[in-house]
Formats: sequence, structure tokens, C-alpha cells
Amino acid sequence: MNILFEITASDLLGRNGIIHTKKGKIRTPCFVPVVHPEASKNLLSVNEFQTKYAVDFIITSSYILKNRYADAKIDLHKQTGFLGPIMTDSGAYQSLVYGEIEFTPEGVIAYQEGIGSDFGVPLDIPIAIDDSYDVAKAKVEETILRCKKVPATIAKTDTIWVGPIQGGRYLDLLEESSRVVSDIDSFGMFALGSVVELMSDYQYDTLVDMILTVKQHLDPGRPLHLFGAGHPSMFPLIVAAGCDSFDSAAYALYAHEKRYMTTTQTFLLEELDDFPCSCPVCLRITPKDLLKRPKSEILSALASHNLFVCQTEMKNIRRAISMGTLWELLESRSLAHPNLKKGFDRLKESSHLLVKSTPQIKKKGIFVVSNDSLQRPEIISHKQRLATLAPPGNKNLIVISLLHADLEEVYGIFRSVKSFLKRNATIAANYDIWVLDPVFGLYPLEISELFPLAQYVAIDNLSREYIHSIIRSSLTKLVGFDIDSLFLIGNLTDINEVEKEHLILGKTNLSIKSFGFTINDSSLSKILFILNHLFGQ
Ligand SMILES: [Zn+2]
Repeated sequence: MNILFEITASDLLGRNGIIHTKKGKIRTPCFVPVVHPEASKNLLSVNEFQTKYAVDFIITSSYILKNRYADAKIDLHKQTGFLGPIMTDSGAYQSLVYGEIEFTPEGVIAYQEGIGSDFGVPLDIPIAIDDSYDVAKAKVEETILRCKKVPATIAKTDTIWVGPIQGGRYLDLLEESSRVVSDIDSFGMFALGSVVELMSDYQYDTLVDMILTVKQHLDPGRPLHLFGAGHPSMFPLIVAAGCDSFDSAAYALYAHEKRYMTTTQTFLLEELDDFPCSCPVCLRITPKDLLKRPKSEILSALASHNLFVCQTEMKNIRRAISMGTLWELLESRSLAHPNLKKGFDRLKESSHLLVKSTPQIKKKGIFVVSNDSLQRPEIISHKQRLATLAPPGNKNLIVISLLHADLEEVYGIFRSVKSFLKRNATIAANYDIWVLDPVFGLYPLEISELFPLAQYVAIDNLSREYIHSIIRSSLTKLVGFDIDSLFLIGNLTDINEVEKEHLILGKTNLSIKSFGFTINDSSLSKILFILNHLFGQ
């Protein structure tokens, strides 16, 4: 089944795009609210989802429908009141919770086609959090077997089939599942399952491992869904790891417990003096007044607000992807909870996997707001590119160290140095000037204005380990150049420390001259004086 998935922007592994369906467009990344197939069981009117909450896509349970209405003719869209695209689950999760159900894999497919599901899921077998490896493997093999039978079982309808990926926390099983299911053309979309228990336990680091594993082995041209996401504070994390859509019932489940969501936290209604939100619910009433209303009204008000919060966070995420600032959003949200930080740290450790899908050049400069930001894929990829640059052509190399420099002033100084070199062609012909940058390492002065070298802003207190690793690799690189003399300009304290510990320059026959001062707004005249002085020698 071909699916038209148009990708308009990407950042980290997050993708802004549109899934075109016969029932309308789905903007991705997409939050997919879980709704009960019986209207009376929902706290909100599902027929207002599109107009009031800008919901593009919902998911509901074919298991409940079949159990409740047996073989009665049901039209899914009339039944739920939602006219846009609807995904139906297969009953797999219910089988995990309530034990085996009597549905057959063939029956489940025929049923979803019969009720007019836009996105159907074959009967997979979820893996419980405490399943042993052997049990999980047997379940994966059975799910794969069922997936392989899907092409021969589906009738020619408009249902897009979603390939379920199982494996639990066993990454090799997830890999096998992803490889096989990705090869089945009948699936227009994929979905990673068996994460609900992990999520209830806040194991976001394991979740990130799971998503990254499947992402590496699935066809990137088809969207990836996550079955059972949770609170909006984790939305940026799962999007950055590569989920194009994910369903969650949290907006309603939290409301039932009188819990009020924000993008980063949850409060009990009783705890709030004021609503920190400007959605239509929160603008019109205070927490105290809401508490005086009938219970049904309280719950639907909270569900409505919670749904607005989820949708607002999706807007934030899509904007961040189009602006190239998903890392900034992710890093700020990761501070909401230690377990989110663990998930973010895991993604950070796998940053090399994010390089390909993160634009090399961005509309805005990049922020290094913490030592975590040093693992940004943009920094990793630019460091890799700088490592491949041609060495200096002259025997004399001047290195301007930006360690502890006032970076805001640096680029003006560089411009002046470049025009000085234009006016003094003899100096330029005999000396190469390179820069030692605390974040990116060594690069030639000529490229100092290329993104992101002049377009990043960093905190002052970068970790000593990082700076020393940059210096160490830079000195090693310098030693490999075919040069006779080296002139070091700038703050040399850390360079001297590294040199003392590792004796890199000292082992060579290089003639080295040092001019130690921290680069700031008054440094231009000193640098020009040194250049003139060198030339005068
Ligand atoms: Zn609100």
C-alpha cells in the first residue's frame, strides 16, 4: 500500500510533514488522541475535535467495538463522530491486559476493513515488561508470521495497514522485527508497540533505545507511529528520536483523576490558585469556581484543557523543527523530570544517528546552553567536516586561540585581520592563520564566517574535559602539519596544561613562539602589532 508522506522539514530525527489520506491531511509529527468508540464514554465531543482542537487523526479500539456490537454493521466515522482519518487498534493491548481474546488474525483484518478503518493494525502480540527473552522472541516470531500473511489477507479497500514492530526492550528482536516488517510492501506505516508499561515506569532511556533501534532499520519513506505515549513533557523526546505520530489517552485519564497538565508538569486541580494557561477553558473560570461545578463538568473542562496543552506542544514541536531548534526545545523540556533527562542523555549519546537528518545550515545560530549541548549533531558533523580540511600550505602557521575569548567581539576582529591580510599580501603569502575554537577545534581563518562557526553562542563554563579534548586533538593535528614555525596567540593557560600533561608540541622540532593574552574587544591592535612584528623580522 503506497502512502503519500510528504516531508517538509527535519531536525534531529523529527520530521514535519503531511500524510495524505482520503479522509484528509495529517500534519506530522502528530498527537493522536485515544477516544472510546462509544460517545457517552468520552469526556469531550469527538465531533468537535477537528474544529475546536485542530485534531487531524484519532485512534479507537476495534476490540471494544467488536465485543460490544458483535457483528452489527458499524460505520466507524458515524460511530465516533469523527470525519477525519481514524486508526483502529487490533485488540493486541487488550490481550496483554485481559488475556487471550478469541479474535483470529484474519478476523481482525476483515473486521477493521468492514467498519471503514483508515489505518488498521493486524493482530500482533505485545510483549510484557517482565517477559523473558525466550518468551519475547516467540511472540516476535508469531507477530512476524502474522505480518507476512497480511498481504494475502487484506481485501482491496482503502484501509492503510500499519506494520506492528515488537521486541520489547530486547533490541536485537526489535531490529529483526523492523527489518522483516519494513520489507512488507502492504504496510503504509509502522508502529512500535509494547511501550506502555515502560512509560508508566518512566523508563525513557530504554524507550529512546527502542525507538532509535527501529528507526535505523525501517523504510524512512513511511511514517513511524508509537502506540501509547504519555504526558506532553515527553513529546519532544519521542519526536526527536523519530516518531512521526503517537497516541495517548493521558488527556482524558489525567482529567478523570482531576489532574491538570502543563507542557512540563501536572497539578491536582485543588493545588491551583490560578490557571497558568490561556486556552478557552482556563480563560473563563478559576480553579476554585471550577471545583464548585458538577463532577462531569469538571472532568470535561480538564480533559478539554489537557487536550489543548497536548496540541499546543505539538505546535511548539513543529515550529521548532521548521526553525531548526528542536534541540533547544528538547533540552529545556528534559529539565522537567530526572527520567526525561535520562531519556535526553540517551539520545545525546546517540547523537551521531541524528546527524544525517539535521540540517547542516540553519536559519538561526545554535545555542550551547550547557555541556550537554556540545553533543548537538550540528557540532558533531561540523567537527567531522573540519577534520577533513586541507592542511596549511605555508611553513609558518599562526594560531589564534579563542579559549576564554569574548566571542561576540571575535568576528569583528577577524574581519579586520582579514582586510589587513588583503592589504599586506606578503604576510598572507608567508603565513597561514588558523583559529583554535573551544567548541569546534582548529580551522582556517578564511572560513571563520561560515555557519555555524560565527553563529553559535556558548556558555562560558564549558567543561574542562571537553576543552582539553579539543586542545589535545588540535595540538595533535598541528604536529601533523608540514610546518616549521608555530605562533600561538590568545589565552594559552589550558594549552599549556594539556602540553604539560601530554607533551605533544614538545616532542617536535617546531619553532614555537607564544603571545599570551585573552582575546577581547581591545585585542585587535595587539594582533595586528604581532603580525607586523613577525613580518618585520
Ligand atoms: Zn488551559
